[in-house]
Amino acid sequence: MKERCLVLMKPDALEKRLTGIILDRLERLELDIVAAKAVCLTEDLIRAHYQHLAGKPFLENVVRYMMGDYNHLPNHKILAFVFQGEEAVAKIRRTVGATNPDNAAPWTIRGNFGKFDKAADIVYNCVHASDSAQDAEREINLWFSPQEILDA
Ligand code: ADP
Repeated sequence: MKERCLVLMKPDALEKRLTGIILDRLERLELDIVAAKAVCLTEDLIRAHYQHLAGKPFLENVVRYMMGDYNHLPNHKILAFVFQGEEAVAKIRRTVGATNPDNAAPWTIRGNFGKFDKAADIVYNCVHASDSAQDAEREINLWFSPQEILDA
């Protein structure tokens, strides 16, 4: 099976109307978009998605951030995509950049558009991208039903 990668457009990307420019960057990677949708988030879904952050002091900030509380998005909307193709995870992660926008290469999505609010300890980094093929499959199962994904 070709490699798949989950991409989420986070609330700061939606508030700043960056959806198009981010998709444009990712489309240049010549991967297939095999699923796409707007999702009304629940805290349970965020906590399941970020299970590896359990016990981290910033977890509650991440939950609030993803729920849109810091970006004036009362409907908890997130955009979710599945990209598929050779080395999808590595290609997308390179284009997305480091977790903390202060450390991300300036030409990456997070380097261009992200912001670290150090005082509040909130990392506004615009997008999520799976960090391994294995994690991608776990995440894709959380966010999409099999019927929503094309077999490209
Ligand atoms: P990535 O999103 O690059 O895979 P992680 O899985 O480590 O990174 O973290 C998930 C999300 O949690 C990050 O994208 C970011 O929004 C938030 N985060 C990570 N580290 C911190 C931190 N030290 N302080 C606040 N928020 C953080």
